[in-house]
This record gives sequence, C-alpha cells and structure tokens, in this order.
Amino acid sequence: MFKGRNLVIATKHEKEKVIAPLLERALGVICFVQEGFDTDTLGTFTGEIEREEDPISTARQKCLTAMELSNCDLGIASEGSFGAHPSIFFASADDEFLIFIDKKNNLEIIARELSMETNFNGKEIETEKELFDFAESVKFPSHGLILRKSKNDNSVIIKGITDTIKLKEAFQKLIDKSNTVYAETDMRALHNPSRMTVIENATKKLVDQINSCCPQCNVPGFGVTAINKGLACSLCGSPTNATLSFICKCQKCDFKREDIYPHKKTTEDPMYCDYCNP
Ligand SMILES: [Zn+2]
Ligand SMILES: [Zn+2]
Repeated sequence: MFKGRNLVIATKHEKEKVIAPLLERALGVICFVQEGFDTDTLGTFTGEIEREEDPISTARQKCLTAMELSNCDLGIASEGSFGAHPSIFFASADDEFLIFIDKKNNLEIIARELSMETNFNGKEIETEKELFDFAESVKFPSHGLILRKSKNDNSVIIKGITDTIKLKEAFQKLIDKSNTVYAETDMRALHNPSRMTVIENATKKLVDQINSCCPQCNVPGFGVTAINKGLACSLCGSPTNATLSFICKCQKCDFKREDIYPHKKTTEDPMYCDYCNP
C-alpha cells in the first residue's frame, strides 16, 4: 500500500533524522522534507505565537499543509507538549503525538508517546554562577538553552544557545538591562536530543500501528480505540476502575474486537476496590 511512494515530513527542526530511517525501512516509502514550510506559524514553544488548537488538531493541520504545498498524498507530522506529568506528581513530561495521513487511501493513524525522559525546565537567574548551575542541571551544552528578559516577556528571546561563550554573551546582554534573566530549556527537536529520542520512540509505535492490519479487510492502522474499565476485585468480585479490556476497531469496515485482560491481569488487588476499601 505504501511501497515506493513519496512521503512528506512536516518539520523545520530536523525531526526527519529520526523519523525518515524508520519509515523508509518499515514501509518502503521515500521521505522528504517540505522546504520553506514554517511550522512555527501554528505555534511556538516560546510563546511568540500561541498554539490555538489541541496537539492532535495542530499536528493534522501541519501535516495537511505540508502535503498540499508539496503536492504529496502521504505525510507525517508531530506535535509535542511539555509540562507537568498528567498522573505523576512533581514530574515533567514530554507528550508527543505523531500523525500519519494517506489521502489516497483515506487513512489517518495516530501514535502517542508520553515520556518522563525530558529536561523541560526554566528558572529566574541573577548571577552567572546560578546560570551555569542551571545549565548543567538541564544537560547543557548537549541540550540547547533559551534566555529572555523575564518568563513572559517575548520582546528579546535568544534561542538555540549551545556553547558556553554564547551563553555568557547572551547573559551579559540581558543582565545589563535588568536585575534578572529567565533561562529555559530549548525544546525544539534539533536542540534537544532527549526529545529527539521520544520522537523516535513515537515513530516506532506508529510503525507498529501502521503494520497492524484489520483481520477482516486488511486495512492498516488497526488498533485500540477505546478502553473498558471493570476488572474484578480478587476478593469480592466487584468491578474496579482497572482495565478489563481494550476495544480495537477498524477505520474502514465495521470490524471490532475486544482484547480481554490486556495487561495480563485477571483480577485487581482489593486495595483498589471501592467495596473492599472504600
Ligand atoms: Zn476492516
Ligand atoms: Zn472487592
């Protein structure tokens, strides 16, 4: 279905370095990047342009725009979000979505990778010593830094700082005008190897999902579309909030399959039972 076809990667931050080799090997596609397409128009991490839509809609829009500009019917785009982990307190997370669109076959396949392997951080800085301590804590210089006047000030933003000399220069330039500067991690993929790895893992997931075909009509992208709760308590047998089954549904035909006990667990600990441990 994909062999020998061109596939456009919507990125200006070198994500093709990890995405292209995996897709070319797995699907036999020929990857290219749409030159001159500025993905920043749909939002930047540094806040000059706010992202207006949710990450999946943004990734879809990026992908469709690149496909249109390059006149290509196969495309991929990614969108990352950073912040507090949704379920683990005091942890930062990198939440990456990848979208794969095939207009010729009317397919859309999405993969998500939520990872705690991120250096995402920011701090108000007063002295050069503080700056270098912060830099070391966020894996500088292998990972880039950004300096600005203050956390929400977009007037002067110095991005992509990847060596000590530039870091000192940027700090001097900003500290001359005020008492503090704000230092933060540069989350653009090309300046952030940790993020690049998360995107690589998301791509592997996407490939697995593309290679999973519907048992009835053989269309790619057969995967989990819903999660059923209700795993029985091992003591009293009442349904709990734990996962009982995954529902897999085909995008094309109506084929549906329920995979029971997807976590290889047939009962839940009474500790998590609302009846045994209210
Ligand atoms: Zn099907
Ligand atoms: Zn119980």
